[in-house]
Amino acid sequence: MIIAIFGSQGSGKGTQAELLAEKFNLLHVSMGDCLRAESKKNTVLGKKIKSIQSSGNLVPVKITNKLFENILKKHKNLLLDGYPRSFDQLQFLMKKTKIDYAIEVDLNERDSIKRISSRRMCPKCNRNYNLIRIKPKVKGKCDYCKTNLIQREDDKPAAIKKRQEIYKNQTLPLKKVYKRLGILHIVDGSGSIKQVHESILKILNCQKSPKVK
Ligand SMILES: [Zn+2]
Repeated sequence: MIIAIFGSQGSGKGTQAELLAEKFNLLHVSMGDCLRAESKKNTVLGKKIKSIQSSGNLVPVKITNKLFENILKKHKNLLLDGYPRSFDQLQFLMKKTKIDYAIEVDLNERDSIKRISSRRMCPKCNRNYNLIRIKPKVKGKCDYCKTNLIQREDDKPAAIKKRQEIYKNQTLPLKKVYKRLGILHIVDGSGSIKQVHESILKILNCQKSPKVK
């Protein structure tokens, strides 16, 4: 099974992806995290990704295709988080496999920005926190490895703005394709983590995809 979850930055899709991956035993593929992991390697590719990401631009499809293909070689049941992000990426994916559910976590821009600016991450083990919703037990420290939490370069205002433009222009148009395939589902992302999770479970429990208007 392949579930693709998408939503603007700050919509809470990453948290929902983690919950779903665990519940349905899917490999959680966060392209953002894959790219970040790659960018930490001191290679030509790693350095290239790093400079593209810190500028808030979209990483070229050639790179994401390669990373995705490597994952597909080993895994069949995936929870795709933030991938595909553009029509090019979706085209490549559809050549290789098929998406069973495409779920949009829908949240307005103002609330999204509010959530993003409260995000923190652990630079050592890559765990994500949120000062409003997923607070670390000790202020500013990772619960697992006690490393000082940081704010990602791409969670800073200029990068956020650019990402939102990219999302509107490149990711949202994919909805038309998902709709045509009958796999598009939209959930309201403004509720609590639990409420949004439950809305998604309702979708996954029904066999036939209810058509989205
Ligand atoms: Zn940590």
